[in-house]
Amino acid sequence: MEISKKHFDVVIIGSGLGGMVCGTILSKEGNRVCIIEKNEQIGGSLQTFKREGVTFDTGVHYIGGLSKENSLYKIFNYLGIMQRLETARMDEEGFDVVMFKDDIEEYPYGMGYENFKRILLSKFSDEEEVIEKYCSDMKRICDSVPLYNLREGEIENMEMLSTSAKDYFEQLTPNKKLQNVLAGTNLLYAGTEKTPLYVHALVVNSYIESAYKIKNGGDQIVKLMARIIKENGGEVLRKHDVKSIDVENGNAKSVTLSTGEKIEAEVFISNIHPAKTLAMTETDAIRPAYRNRISSLENSISTFVLYLILKPSIFPFRNRNYYYFNEENVWTCVDYKPDNFPSMYALFEEVPEKQNEFTEAITVMTYMRFDEVEKWKDSFNTTLEESNRNEEYQEFKKQKAEKLLDTIAVKFPNIRDCIQSYYTSSPLSYRDYMGTVDGNMYGIVKDFNDPMKTMISVKTKVPNLFLTGQNINLHGVLGVTESALVTCGAVIGKEYLLNKILGANKN
Ligand SMILES: Cc1cc2nc3c(=O)[nH]c(=O)nc-3n(C[C@H](O)[C@H](O)[C@H](O)COP(=O)(O)OP(=O)(O)OC[C@H]3O[C@@H](n4cnc5c(N)ncnc54)[C@H](O)[C@@H]3O)c2cc1C
Repeated sequence: MEISKKHFDVVIIGSGLGGMVCGTILSKEGNRVCIIEKNEQIGGSLQTFKREGVTFDTGVHYIGGLSKENSLYKIFNYLGIMQRLETARMDEEGFDVVMFKDDIEEYPYGMGYENFKRILLSKFSDEEEVIEKYCSDMKRICDSVPLYNLREGEIENMEMLSTSAKDYFEQLTPNKKLQNVLAGTNLLYAGTEKTPLYVHALVVNSYIESAYKIKNGGDQIVKLMARIIKENGGEVLRKHDVKSIDVENGNAKSVTLSTGEKIEAEVFISNIHPAKTLAMTETDAIRPAYRNRISSLENSISTFVLYLILKPSIFPFRNRNYYYFNEENVWTCVDYKPDNFPSMYALFEEVPEKQNEFTEAITVMTYMRFDEVEKWKDSFNTTLEESNRNEEYQEFKKQKAEKLLDTIAVKFPNIRDCIQSYYTSSPLSYRDYMGTVDGNMYGIVKDFNDPMKTMISVKTKVPNLFLTGQNINLHGVLGVTESALVTCGAVIGKEYLLNKILGANKN
């Protein structure tokens, strides 16, 4: 693709959701924006792929907070994409279902706090007080985060940053089953013993408020944004790899691409991992101590994903996601041993293309650490540079897929009979497509023991270089979109931006 201009108001490195939201906002504000993406497709974790006519999402299976009264709806409405987004509301009687190996009971999460409480009470009839307290705690925590509610101001309850999610559940109730059910969707944030309670609250609350799937792939979101950026005179460049951010006299002046071309701008926003951003920015303004701090932060675990294409009219579409655990301790799954793989899984049904009562495809995710694929770390495979790595790697993936299928069969005994064909991805796929070092799912790990260490400012010591994306504030569609508001707020003013969003939602 030809680059028509060499100077823009804003250059954004990476077309992940964070970069695209920033690009859309700043282009709506009259800036000429250039998004630079290394991949063939835009969207980062929102990319999709097609096999045998079926579209699969690689990194977004459902979204919380898309009802009219919710913040994400309001932001998407302001951005101009909400009306054109094709969504499917999930089952209000149980959009998520938690299951355990040795328990025939299923534990659905109802949509809306009233449904949520009613359905849980039907499973835990003696626990009304605990369930009430849990719901009011979640609402209180979310209410104390102004941005989550599109309000100006600082977090009102700093103490919650250093509260452990696991400790909270243990103090909430001695009922282990209820603890595990309430934290049973913690794959959504790769929950570990380090996870702060606010991360659980912000993520899970958004889905309890409302849970939607995006029809025909989550990449719809970024495609709609790309259209707006272009309509506003901007450019979205694909297949362009940024190699460096060039600083002159303390300010970022240009980015250099792998082709050697330079693109200049007044403002630069990096949507890639902060450690990578700093590594490509040579300047004394960024001190070695800061570089070391950022590069030493732990990243979240990666994933192994099984994409199943199903035989026609065989697997009923339930409009629910299933979270399954081998053992009744949801906080240790990340630390699985290869012999115990998979420790858990989450199963997502693709919304049928035609209004059909059967789904055509299922995606199943489980944890996988990068060390399991370390052997093949020198290989590289994306649609721009294809390789099947090697036979041994293909065999490794097949064995993992078969183990995962055995585990799925515990609750879905006829699963193998339903499968037409399957495909898999490993931490290497996520590493190569996202440009991270380890294929991590959700960026930098948040730790309640030292919450300030993992808080990264959107501003850098280079005054016109800003950061955005899941490593900054919170991951997920909602978290990343709100991170982008913080980034754009630092460029054009947060109060101004929030007023624009609220103004666009007045009627
Ligand atoms: C398996 C999986 C399942 C998930 N499921 C859900 C879900 O159901 N719901 C939900 O809300 N969230 C989900 N998430 C989280 C969500 O998808 C992410 O938090 C979010 O999309 C990350 O956005 P980002 O802006 O940080 O950018 P990323 O998606 O990390 O994108 C960064 C972009 O930068 C590009 N890039 C990197 N280096 C360069 C370079 N040198 N030059 C140019 N471009 C570069 C990359 O190619 C990429 O496109 C999931 C994530 C994963 C991995």
